[in-house]
Amino acid sequence: MISKRRQLLSLVWLVALVASGLAQQPPQTNSVNRLRQAVEYLASDALEGRRTGTPGANGAAHYIAGEFSLLGLRPGMETARPARTRGENRSRYLQSFPYVADVELGRNNALTVITRGGSDVPNGVSREPLSLGKHWVPLGFSTNLTVVSETIVPAGYGISAPELNYNDYALAQVKNGVAVVLAGTPDGDNPHSRFAQAGSVRFKVAAARAAGAGALIIISSEKNLNDDRLSHLSYDNAGEAGLPVIVVSRTAGALLLGGDEALAAFEKAAVARTGTLPVPKGIHLTVDVIRRESPSFNIIGILPGSDPKLKDEAIVIGAHYDHLGRGGEGSLAPREGEIHYGADDNASGTAALIELARRLTTQRPKPRRTIVFIAFSGEEEGLLGSNYYVNHPVVPLQKTIAMINMDMIGRLRDQKLMIGGIGTAPEWRAMVEGQNSPENMATAAANQGLSGTMPPPSFANLKVNLDPKMTPVGYPVVMGANGPVVTAEAAHPPMEAAKPFTLTLNEDGYGPSDHSSFYSKQIPVLFFFTGTHNDYHKPSDTSDKINFEGEAKIVSFVERIIRDLDKSDKRPTYAVAKSESQGRASGFRVYLGTIPNYADSNDGLLLDGIRDASPAAKAGIKAGDKIVKIAGHDVKNVYDYTYALGEMKGGQEYEIEVMRGAERLKLKITPEARK
Ligand SMILES: [Zn+2]
Repeated sequence: MISKRRQLLSLVWLVALVASGLAQQPPQTNSVNRLRQAVEYLASDALEGRRTGTPGANGAAHYIAGEFSLLGLRPGMETARPARTRGENRSRYLQSFPYVADVELGRNNALTVITRGGSDVPNGVSREPLSLGKHWVPLGFSTNLTVVSETIVPAGYGISAPELNYNDYALAQVKNGVAVVLAGTPDGDNPHSRFAQAGSVRFKVAAARAAGAGALIIISSEKNLNDDRLSHLSYDNAGEAGLPVIVVSRTAGALLLGGDEALAAFEKAAVARTGTLPVPKGIHLTVDVIRRESPSFNIIGILPGSDPKLKDEAIVIGAHYDHLGRGGEGSLAPREGEIHYGADDNASGTAALIELARRLTTQRPKPRRTIVFIAFSGEEEGLLGSNYYVNHPVVPLQKTIAMINMDMIGRLRDQKLMIGGIGTAPEWRAMVEGQNSPENMATAAANQGLSGTMPPPSFANLKVNLDPKMTPVGYPVVMGANGPVVTAEAAHPPMEAAKPFTLTLNEDGYGPSDHSSFYSKQIPVLFFFTGTHNDYHKPSDTSDKINFEGEAKIVSFVERIIRDLDKSDKRPTYAVAKSESQGRASGFRVYLGTIPNYADSNDGLLLDGIRDASPAAKAGIKAGDKIVKIAGHDVKNVYDYTYALGEMKGGQEYEIEVMRGAERLKLKITPEARK
């Protein structure tokens, strides 16, 4: 049992803390309301789910820019002359990046099947044009090209997965020919199929290119071509295929192979893997797709540091504001069309970003370092906005000491908070756990609980109840003549707010959100997240399900960590964190230690970084190099690269070719085997 004297001492200490907190900070109960307002607007019908490149996303961008402007943040984009209109002023917060939002069919698409040797046709040659839309459609990432071929080569499902000892092209000589493959995998709809990766269309394309095919024709598994997802022109902003790729109806598939029975036999052979002979039919194929770029923006506001020296260093605080629009790619809803509100993902983080900007600009002490607030776009499409930022930063990355990311922080339940990136700097753990101590949480809660209704004189007597004999713990108390008395002054009783979080700390600096882009540039990161839920990536992720009190508590927690970080003259030390996703996600047998850039590419794979002492480092590969060939495979994009990795073996030497500036270098690399 704690002694009266100790108890009194601890209370005195708390008074000091609370008092100093009060002296510095105006009451914060409006936080909850402001967070609610921002989330409700961002997740409203008006913004239609904020899909990157759409008017809804750009509406959100202008709203965020407006908030940054009201707070007096410096715009991220320098311009030669001062802004003359409000619109001009707001646009200076927008960092635009290239993004293809829309794919259309051009005018020149054509597919003709040529059959020779018919006795009932003129010259023994029949030409059958197939109707675009009904019987065939190019894929959105297909290369635009005309291909003429004398034969077509059936190649099973078109899957090559060396790690599974599975290669449909081993049974089909497709070099320079047109490969015809079945959609899907031999495992059907099984979500746990061993072909989850190798069976994806991107990997099928890489396999076809690796086998030397001149074009890839995929036979739909749907009765109506329009029901096939492959037939819906879309583009993942991950680079062109490198060859023409089309999907055809089953009717067209039968025509290509020589009839319904031939198609049925092909399907059987594909499962049994017995191989199918080339079909003596010609193809004349022209693909013409138009990929249209749409304006897409990161919103950047800067709070210049107050310390003459440390202001050259920056802390980036980020949250993505884009979401999935009306569904489609990335959605887990059964059908397209409904607005995906994305209240938790990630209106919550965006609202928190604006609230943090407000607190750090208006409250004391002023941060010593420069704070860069960034609302990212293109996150749901593959971290496009943050990737662009780290390659076009407004403060040099060497001066960027840390990146704090908030993505989905609106569903605090049972005080469970996940924090990623703990292993990216040895300083993080103590900082995070320190701010989560019962004392710090109680103090912060008391600050927050003071709605401003309490008359100033009683501030001096204010403490937080930590005595379990006096309920409720965590409420403000004042010293009465007979000892502490719980007050009822708090508008929001800080009971819940005073409880420490139940933290799940994750070492990894990589993860499914924008902090990955920064960690790949060797910047320590922290990632705040309240966990996934049933409404994740569905239209039902709405604002009425957000725990705004919980979110305000997280915002206050993040703010204290940032202030703590800024207090030290020493920047956090970058560390290579244990990576949990690496081996599991890829399933590769080899390790090279490259950190690829996942942005759009058609002419090689750009590397953002190289892990220390890795095979890539030993090979002499450097960050900024572009891999164009590895182990005999041309590399145009990340899929080609991943495909080639699948074929490589640990301990064996391979040739790798990289572009370094204008120079093409041939190097030797020996991958390590993964354990
Ligand atoms: Zn998401």
